[in-house]
Amino acid sequence: MSLWKKTALELSNLIKSKEIKPSEVVQSFIERKRQVEPKIQAYVTDLEEFAIQMAKKLDEEITKLEKIPDLFGIPIAIKDNISTKGIRTTCSSKMLENFVPIYDATVIERLKEQGYVITGKTNLDEFAMGSSTENSAFFTTKNPWDLERVPGGSSGGSAAIVAAAAVPLSLGSDTGGSIRQPAAFCGIVGLKPTYGRVSRYGLVAFASSLDQIGPFSRTVEDAALIMNVIAGKDNRDSTSKDVPVPNYLEEIKKDVKGLKIGLPKEFFTDDLDPQIKDTVLNAVKQLEKEGMSVEEISLPHAKYAIETYYIIAPAEASSNLARFDGVRYGYRTKDYSDLEEMYSKTRNEGFGSEVKRRIMIGTYVLSSGYYDAYYLKAQKVRTLIYQDYVKAFEKVDVIISPTTPDVAFKIGEKSSDPIQMYLSDIFTVSANIATVPAISIPCGFKDNLPVGMQITGKPFDEATILRVAYRYQNIYRFYEKIPME
Ligand code: GLN
Repeated sequence: MSLWKKTALELSNLIKSKEIKPSEVVQSFIERKRQVEPKIQAYVTDLEEFAIQMAKKLDEEITKLEKIPDLFGIPIAIKDNISTKGIRTTCSSKMLENFVPIYDATVIERLKEQGYVITGKTNLDEFAMGSSTENSAFFTTKNPWDLERVPGGSSGGSAAIVAAAAVPLSLGSDTGGSIRQPAAFCGIVGLKPTYGRVSRYGLVAFASSLDQIGPFSRTVEDAALIMNVIAGKDNRDSTSKDVPVPNYLEEIKKDVKGLKIGLPKEFFTDDLDPQIKDTVLNAVKQLEKEGMSVEEISLPHAKYAIETYYIIAPAEASSNLARFDGVRYGYRTKDYSDLEEMYSKTRNEGFGSEVKRRIMIGTYVLSSGYYDAYYLKAQKVRTLIYQDYVKAFEKVDVIISPTTPDVAFKIGEKSSDPIQMYLSDIFTVSANIATVPAISIPCGFKDNLPVGMQITGKPFDEATILRVAYRYQNIYRFYEKIPME
């Protein structure tokens, strides 16, 4: 079997037993990448040459190591809103087109300590605002299952490159669904950890109270493998929490017997596409056969989640994005006569239309006349949504729903209608609002396109959702089917 078809865990074991060298692994993935990348366009910055050099160094280093780390020699792609020292980090924005950070994000530092190999920086919707990568200032990434369709977003590049098996693992960020929705559209595993589980230090902020970094992989084991490395308290992120990190690779093997699944009645309505509904409920039945029990639950405030999210996220974004003013770093307009004009021309030319829309909504809902009516109200509803989850988790261990209302849509289909685009986050935003962890795994196909199932867990209980996901993967071996073969 070609090395590129293997999972990160399989490769890790082969490297540790010295059956293969990091350079052989990297070479195999590069060959696969050359075949698929011209069609899917997942990378903003392809680091092929850098990866080859790095792997060569690791070939030498391994001979001197007593203990070989789990991710040693494993190729990993990084979403281009995660800071990489010395490597351009654009956020797919003209504003940061030539920005080279002087420091690494904490997740990158941790991966470096392992001896991982960075393969490139992946495309996203500008500043992670969007659901399709069509808001990238550079180009749109294509879905490997159907090149006329979007890979989802905002982490579309990270999802597409893993789905096409041109890299076994990647990192994305999820503010309202940007890991889970593209994972669903691309037929892979995507995990949004609990808020505070993974350090946000070095993640370019979109909405700081919602953002989390998390992994994409073809298997649940691989998600567990990288979570073992990136999870945990970081003193440089005051919102990261000091909650013990279990060994996820051990946790996933535990039995699921006796665990309770909650199905929120608000998510399984008659409006839901019948095929999506059937596919997800069929997967739930399989889990029932494994000894899990199922009951209906209610998340009564979930119906306000989209509205709440699209007030809080833009409010925080408008504040976070104030730093891009042409003074400190990033793009600066060429012609201006005074400071005021420099600011406004820089921001007008540097930001795309979706980012501007969010800044306008955000400043509006925060302005003194409207703050109480919108922002403050949204914060109150946020608490209600959170309390719904607390109540639900008194009864059940995990909550299952579809990840998205439908499969991947066509490029251009929703780009002129922001509301339609926002509605594709209807099942994912609640987890960010409530800060809880959620994973999307493939559970079938509709019209030859992958369908995602979302499993949501209690705060800091990534272990249980990974465990349920792993059990399902043993029934439906979704990782065996690779597009563009
Ligand atoms: N699609 C959502 C948005 O546009 C979520 C984005 C994200 O999670 N980064 O805001």
